[in-house]
Amino acid sequence: MLKATAFNVTCSVEETEKKMKTVIFGPPGSGKGTYASRLQVKLGADVIAMGDIFREIMKEDSPLGRQVKGFVEKGLLVPDDVVIEVLKQRLVKVSSGRGFILDGFPRTIEQAEALDKLVKIDAVILLTVPDWIIVERLSTRRVCRKCGEVYNVRYLKPKAEGACDKCGGELYQRSDDTAEVIRDRIKVYERQTKPILQRYNEKRILSVEFKCEKLETPPEVAVESILRELKKLNLA
Ligand code: ADP
Ligand code: ZN
Repeated sequence: MLKATAFNVTCSVEETEKKMKTVIFGPPGSGKGTYASRLQVKLGADVIAMGDIFREIMKEDSPLGRQVKGFVEKGLLVPDDVVIEVLKQRLVKVSSGRGFILDGFPRTIEQAEALDKLVKIDAVILLTVPDWIIVERLSTRRVCRKCGEVYNVRYLKPKAEGACDKCGGELYQRSDDTAEVIRDRIKVYERQTKPILQRYNEKRILSVEFKCEKLETPPEVAVESILRELKKLNLA
């Protein structure tokens, strides 16, 4: 049996009534996790972050943990059947009456098709960012070992060096955040993930876009812009 770990689920203090089901979509390093963790409070939604779930699974000394590790550390996608099963098990844990933000799913057309069979997505939050920003950001990124919060040693520093602002956990550099693996992850995104956008366009799923053009754009600026756009569409 696969074991999906609940991760990054917190209760909101400013819940809206909308219960939106959204996908946050963009290349690695576009800020999906950073913005999702801030948007969840504003939208009263759970965040389902596939990368975080896999990093938890990888900590287990199990056949599944070792299998997943082999893909993640090379910057390759975990096979669809595994990902889809993990997602299904995580979706049933979404608190009733709350929406969710999917971060890192779907990443292939097959995953998008599987998702369509499970739920109807209300909106896609699209993040676009040039490759040079991705490489610079990811190679200086740090992640909290305990809660998964994302920092950057240059552009998004924690208050105390090496420690998470939220939970005090140790910050570390992901093994797939090296220049070589980052380049492979960008290629994988272009080849396997980006084509999903065409599908969402054809299905006329509402979408809002945030274009990041500057390295040091504070997350709050992006989040405010995304919320404004969602409100315009009456989605937040
Ligand atoms: P990123 O910063 O690249 O968006 P994530 O933390 O979302 O990173 O994902 C890290 C890795 O976990 C991916 O490179 C991939 O190996 C694996 N992974 C995450 N989500 C999926 C998915 N939907 N399908 C296949 N593999 C995935
Ligand atoms: Zn933390």
